[in-house]
Amino acid sequence: MIETDRRKFLKSIAGLSGLAVSAVPGLASARGPVAAQVQDIRLSKNKNYIRLVFDLDGIADHSLFALQAPNRVVLDIKNTKMPHGMVDQVQANSLIRSIRSGVRNDKDLRVVFDLSKDVSPRSFLLAPSGKSGHRLVIDLHNKKGRTATIKKASKRDVIIAIDAGHGGRDPGATGRSGTHEKIITLQIAKRLEKNINQQRGMKAVLIRKNDRYMRLRDRITKARDYRADMMISLHADSFPDPRARGSSIYALSVDGASSETARMLAEKENAADILFGDVNLAVDDQMVKEVLFDLSLTGTIESSLDIGGEILGQLKTVNRVHKKKVQQAGFAVLKAPNIPSVLLETAFISNPREEKNLRSASHQKKIASAITRGVSKYFSRKAPPGTWLASSECEYSVCDGDSVAAIAEKHQVNESDLCARNGLYADNLLAGQVIKIPVS
Ligand SMILES: [Zn+2]
Repeated sequence: MIETDRRKFLKSIAGLSGLAVSAVPGLASARGPVAAQVQDIRLSKNKNYIRLVFDLDGIADHSLFALQAPNRVVLDIKNTKMPHGMVDQVQANSLIRSIRSGVRNDKDLRVVFDLSKDVSPRSFLLAPSGKSGHRLVIDLHNKKGRTATIKKASKRDVIIAIDAGHGGRDPGATGRSGTHEKIITLQIAKRLEKNINQQRGMKAVLIRKNDRYMRLRDRITKARDYRADMMISLHADSFPDPRARGSSIYALSVDGASSETARMLAEKENAADILFGDVNLAVDDQMVKEVLFDLSLTGTIESSLDIGGEILGQLKTVNRVHKKKVQQAGFAVLKAPNIPSVLLETAFISNPREEKNLRSASHQKKIASAITRGVSKYFSRKAPPGTWLASSECEYSVCDGDSVAAIAEKHQVNESDLCARNGLYADNLLAGQVIKIPVS
C-alpha cells in the first residue's frame, strides 16, 4: 500500500472506546489472608430470603457469585478448611436442592449451592460478639418480578472484521515477480478467518470474499453492519528500494504528534472541513465538534494501539518487523459506531524475498496464526461486556509447576477454552499469574 492509499484508508476508518475491562461478578470482602476453619453452618428461613451462617474460627477472604442454567451460587473462602460432610447437615429445602463443597488451589474452600431458582446473593462478615465468633453470612434473596420469564442471554462472540486490502480493478502494489497485493491479502484474510473461527468466543467476518473492487467507505459500512468489535485491514508494503523489508502496523492518529495532522490543523480554513467533512454531528459549535471528535477518538486510538501492539508482538516471531512500534498515521473521520482498527502491512511485496514469502502457504499460515494470537491476547484482557471472552466463573492464581492441562482438569473446563479465555499459548504460564476460569 502506498502512502496516499494508507492515508485514505485511515481517514475513512474510526474506532470506538466501547471496549471495557470485564468484571467478575460477585461480592467480596477483603480481610487478611488468615487460615480459618468452618466450625458450623446454620440455616434460617425468612420471608424473602434464606440465610446461611458459616461460623469461622477466624476471618477469611471470600467471594460470592451466582450462575444460571442451572441456577447456583458459588462461595469461595480463601485459606479455609471445612470438616468433611459438614454441608450434609444443612437440610435441602424448596430453594436449596443440594450443597457441595470442595478444596480449590489446595487451600481454599469452595461451596456450591444448587438452587431451584435464580436468586440475588448477598454476603457479609460479622465480628465476634457475645457467644458468637466470626461469622460469614450468606443471604439468598428471592429475585423480584419476572424471575421465571427471564431468559439468560447467551454470551456472544467478539467479532473481528478482516479487510483484505484492494481487490478487483485495484490490484494494490505489485511485486517484481508480478504478485498482486490484492491476491495475497485475500489469501491471508481467508487463512486468518479460518484461524480465528477455530478460537472459542471469536468470530471472523470477511469484508471481501473474492477478487472484487470495494470502496473504502463500503468496507467500513460492512464492518459496522457486522457489528465488528475490531477491524484488521491487511496489506503488503512497497517501496522503491527493494531492500526495504519487514512488517508494520498502523493505528489512527489524530493528535499533534503526527506532523501531517499538525500541518493540516495549521491550515485553519480547511482543517475543520478535512477533519469533519464526513461527520454529521448535529451541532454547529466548532468547539463542541472538536471535543466530541477528540473524546470519541481517544479511546479508539488507545484500543487500536493496544491491539496493534499485541499483534506486532506476535508477528515478531514470524517476520522481521520494519518498525518496532505501532505507527500512528493519518487522521480519522469520525464515524459512529466506531470500531478500533489497525492496518497491517504484512511484509514488503517490493522485496523479492518477502514477495516469495508472501506467496508461500506456510508463511501465510504463520502470519495468520500470529495475528490470531495477538487478537486473542488483546481480547483476553479487553473483551467487550456480554461476550463469552469477558465472562468467567472465577480467577485462579497459577502455582509453580502448573500446566494448562492440570488447571483445566482441576476446574473441569475445556483446555482450549481455558487458553482462548486467557490468550494462552504453549506453556507461557507464570507462577503467580492470575487467569480467568471460563464459564463452561
Ligand atoms: Zn495496500
